[in-house]
Amino acid sequence: MSVVYLGGKAPTAEEKRWHDWVASQGCACCFGPAQIHHCVGSTARQSKVHIGQWFVIPLCDLHHKVPHGIHGDPRGLAADWGYGSMGRKELEKVIFFRLVAKYRRERDDYPLPADALRAIEMVPPVDVIYFE
Ligand SMILES: [Zn+2]
Ligand SMILES: [Zn+2]
Repeated sequence: MSVVYLGGKAPTAEEKRWHDWVASQGCACCFGPAQIHHCVGSTARQSKVHIGQWFVIPLCDLHHKVPHGIHGDPRGLAADWGYGSMGRKELEKVIFFRLVAKYRRERDDYPLPADALRAIEMVPPVDVIYFE
């Protein structure tokens, strides 16, 4: 599945490989055809490390966009998924680190640089409105 970029920073070849693998896993909620959701926006940095193109999760159109998706009703989505009242950032981190663990089991390797992984772990688990 190819990923379409509508603005923001274009990914490097390594980031693009990660996106393709993430999208190939199917929607994190329903396993339907997935698009890439940038959890903190494509240009975001944490602890001076560019994480925007690494911190991504797969979501289908319905579970991505307003009104039912993660951009519209993250708490409703978390409840539907069985994550209780988790906020958006917590939910994204849980899904993201599950994907990293799955990738590691399959490839015996990490999909992203160690500094980016550490920086993503440090993203505060609070809900912030991002436009992506
Ligand atoms: Zn879905
Ligand atoms: Zn999104």
